[in-house]
Amino acid sequence: MALTRRQFLRRSAVAVAGAGLIRSTLTGVTAEIVRGPAKKVLVLGAGMAGLVAAYELTELGHDVTVLEARTRPGGRVHTLREPFSDGLYAEEGAARIPDEHDLTLKYVKTFELPLEPFYPSRLNAIRFDRGSREEVPIDGFTDAMSQNYGDDLGGRPERWHKIKGGTDLLPRAFAKHLESKIVYGAPVVKIEQNEKAARVVCLKAGSPQTLTADSVLVTIPFSVLRNVELPALSSRKRDAIKRTQYAAVSRVYLQTRNRFWEERGLNGFAFTQGAIEIWQPTWSQPGPRGILMTYARPGEAERITSMKENGRIEATLTQLDGIFSGLRGNFERGATKCWTDDEWARGAWAFVGFSEFATAIMPEGRVHFAGEHLSPWFSWMQGALQSGLRAVKEIDEAQYPVGKAARL
Ligand SMILES: Cc1cc2nc3c(=O)[nH]c(=O)nc-3n(C[C@H](O)[C@H](O)[C@H](O)COP(=O)(O)OP(=O)(O)OC[C@H]3O[C@@H](n4cnc5c(N)ncnc54)[C@H](O)[C@@H]3O)c2cc1C
Repeated sequence: MALTRRQFLRRSAVAVAGAGLIRSTLTGVTAEIVRGPAKKVLVLGAGMAGLVAAYELTELGHDVTVLEARTRPGGRVHTLREPFSDGLYAEEGAARIPDEHDLTLKYVKTFELPLEPFYPSRLNAIRFDRGSREEVPIDGFTDAMSQNYGDDLGGRPERWHKIKGGTDLLPRAFAKHLESKIVYGAPVVKIEQNEKAARVVCLKAGSPQTLTADSVLVTIPFSVLRNVELPALSSRKRDAIKRTQYAAVSRVYLQTRNRFWEERGLNGFAFTQGAIEIWQPTWSQPGPRGILMTYARPGEAERITSMKENGRIEATLTQLDGIFSGLRGNFERGATKCWTDDEWARGAWAFVGFSEFATAIMPEGRVHFAGEHLSPWFSWMQGALQSGLRAVKEIDEAQYPVGKAARL
């Protein structure tokens, strides 16, 4: 990859002066002094936090390698395209972007990804109020969201956007930029450090491999990190990692032969009495087929998760046939996603205890931490991005000796 102007400046300055460079810009972080020479950095996890950090650290001239357990980038940002027909798609994780998520929108713009409204303005949604079924304009749906989850998730329907083509176009754009720097299928099993360097052990085709670096950025969710050997971390940090709770979330997708609900003036969105959201993500995609999907949060998601795949689909078909009558006769195929079952996430998003947040977020020696769980916007891409950028600044400014990594 050709050197960017910033990389060129960074490397020239390091070569000439050995230390120090006025940083002109860093996305999302104000101008700062960059101290010390370029570092060798291992980023653990290619979700939004790891990707943005790897991208910006690379822009600053650091030598970055990303280790990712899965065979794809994006982590909890993943668009489901199989087993659907006709190129239809739906989101397993992140789907909605509100107006005020400046970092998410900034990177959407950086990679020139098209946005479209999340909610349809045509036809009616269904809402259940104290047991009675009502057909309401889409702002009745977002009102129900505000009432149940607070304004963070509600507000005007026009406030909400989605990436046309699927949310995972965003992590894929970062990954394309980083290409040869990401090692897929490389689950990390141990993180160590001493005064000279940090050391990470990952499995490659099942065999352990050891890599050394000046800095390590851990973006692995705590729900998974608790199974990684962490001998170099304090017991307070390990306790915070163990105690952090993750939310159960389930989604069930039902593909239909046609969008029969439209003939009845419905747009396929509904909010049930049990606070389950029903979306029709295909409203802006070409027909005639469509997808109705459920989005269940803690309280309901555990029940779905405890079933087998067929049971989840069958139970959801029965539930949704009661709301969109005729669904069963139109049903073609289903799919499910339960985040507690996901080996590399073990939950949808974190609840870091208030008293543990300071311990959880602090770097320890050469080991730094980022991820949605370590930001003010937990459970959002915005949070993952903000935490990744905060870690870039931390690593950039870190004062530990560097350059000994290869000799550990
Ligand atoms: C159901 C759901 C709905 C959501 N809805 C929205 C939404 O509408 N809008 C929005 O903005 N956000 C939403 N989010 C939140 C958003 O997806 C996350 O906050 C964000 O993607 C988290 O990014 P991350 O980098 O912190 O973590 P992750 O995406 O989890 O990235 C961590 C990476 O580490 C990898 N990893 C794990 N273990 C290891 C290991 N041992 N070794 C190496 N790699 C490892 C994982 O595979 C993963 O790629 C939603 C999330 C979920 C689950």
